[in-house]
Amino acid sequence: APRLRFAPSPTGFLHIGAFRTALFSWLYARHSGGKFILRIEDTDLARTVEGAVEDFTDGLRWLGMDVDEGPDIGGPYGPYYQVQRKALYQQYANQLLESGHAYRCYCTPERLDAMRKEQIANKLPPRYDRHCRYLSPEERATIEASGATWVVRFAMPLEGETVVHDELHGDMVFKNSDIDDTVIMKTNGLAPYHLAHLVDDHLMKITHVLRGEEWISSAPRHVQIYQALGWPVPLFYHVPNVLGKDKKKLSKRRNAPSWSDYKKQGYLPEAVFNFLALLGWAYDDKTEIFTQDELIKAFTLKKIGISSGIYDPDKLLWMNGLYIRNLPLAELVERTIPYMELAEDEGGLPASIVRPLDRAYTTRVLALEHERLKTLGEAAHVVSFFYEKEIDYSLDILIQKKMDAASTREALLQTRTLLNSLSTWEHSILEAQLRELVTKLGLKNGQVFGTIRTAVSGRTATPPLFEMMEVLGRDVCMQRIDQAIA
Ligand code: GLU
Repeated sequence: APRLRFAPSPTGFLHIGAFRTALFSWLYARHSGGKFILRIEDTDLARTVEGAVEDFTDGLRWLGMDVDEGPDIGGPYGPYYQVQRKALYQQYANQLLESGHAYRCYCTPERLDAMRKEQIANKLPPRYDRHCRYLSPEERATIEASGATWVVRFAMPLEGETVVHDELHGDMVFKNSDIDDTVIMKTNGLAPYHLAHLVDDHLMKITHVLRGEEWISSAPRHVQIYQALGWPVPLFYHVPNVLGKDKKKLSKRRNAPSWSDYKKQGYLPEAVFNFLALLGWAYDDKTEIFTQDELIKAFTLKKIGISSGIYDPDKLLWMNGLYIRNLPLAELVERTIPYMELAEDEGGLPASIVRPLDRAYTTRVLALEHERLKTLGEAAHVVSFFYEKEIDYSLDILIQKKMDAASTREALLQTRTLLNSLSTWEHSILEAQLRELVTKLGLKNGQVFGTIRTAVSGRTATPPLFEMMEVLGRDVCMQRIDQAIA
């Protein structure tokens, strides 16, 4: 059965687009009855960032991608942290040394630096000049006896070509002489990516390697290392990067939030998942809304496009709104209340509003907003006037087009008298009665209803007026209209 992996480096926090390739791997693992493996590529100790691993695992969990083998749960091919696999990389680096596919390089950083500067000055591509490749055994012995340290470099064939077969791009042919003798073992005994990922992919029996297309240029060297170790090459899928609307690569700093930013703002993970699946993959040219199960069923690697997915935050917002509208009301309430009950400075309702919220009342309130809500996080702001003891607004938002202060006040006085006379407080009655009043006053619906809307809510945009008044209740409406007139 297929085995696929997500192999992030904990050198920083991932932006949302970075989960997309993992999501493709996960979908295919689930589609094919295979396994999804999480491996932490943490051999770059100096760049390791605290908390990054938790952020990856929490992000996977939030998006609903369960892991079959990985750091938290182990598995038959562990450990799943590369730093704990140091001995394995050394073993294979030694094997390559012994078979003559690799050599020790003693070049000092100063020498490499000077070499690079000269190459740049001569407009040559910066590349290791293979100085140590040609040392004699006697020369090596002398250098090592002097206490020099070394790295291990892979000896690329100097002639010929390497064909990288990629399932998305087809065969890609590289001239071997263009490819650097890359470091496969560092002085500190840890293997860089080029050896470590490959040893792990092999030992973890990874069948399909999905990774960003920025790795294409290193792939010929990986193919050569596989061959030198006598291992089969896995199926490669170099997946196009997700780009921003500006066609530039997404970056957290510039334009892409992280999964936790989306969670904080009240995006539904199932909407984000659906959105991500369509960044560089499509089922056909029209279907956009898929449940996770539908995606698992529909997903095939063949349909990954070789042009980049464009990350469009407006589309995600639209999709999130659609997912919210499709939630049953009870579930909407269940999922929105925690956002509303957050502290005010975290986007929750004003501090003056007592928590926990009344569930029955909140259900009625959210029923009115259900159609319009785009994120769960905006609910607190949108509905706060349903809860506030006092609202404040300026007179000028009460006054509608072609009305003045006097006629506005008069309309509100008449409204108050009318509302006081009603024996039931129900939206259809409110509507019928207030429409009559508008006619009687010789004004337009928009004018009178606009004024009432603002008087009872403090807002100019609200849910439908009469339903809103019904939910607010007679006491609150009357008290606010009094306040507006006063
Ligand atoms: N650790 C590498 C990265 O984060 C993984 C690349 C791969 O998937 O092989 O870019």
